Amino acid sequence: MERKININRYKCACCGACIAVCNFNANEIINTFLEIKDKNCTLCFSCIKACPFRAIELEE
Ligand code: SF4
Ligand code: SF4
Repeated sequence: MERKININRYKCACCGACIAVCNFNANEIINTFLEIKDKNCTLCFSCIKACPFRAIELEE
């Protein structure tokens, strides 16, 4: 299965910290939910480290 990152919607507070650190324009807030655009994501993991709520996880 392809590796990708996944947002835990119960933990995400829509603070925008992950958007600020993503250099690939791969995450955005849509209708109050954080969404990852898989085609843009390079799995650099910056957002995983930056999320204060540990809402971003690597899915394998
Ligand atoms: S940094 Fe974490 S809590 Fe903030 S918007 Fe991103 S996923 Fe949600
Ligand atoms: S892993 Fe990197 S490229 Fe993917 S959404 Fe997070 S910060 Fe952006």
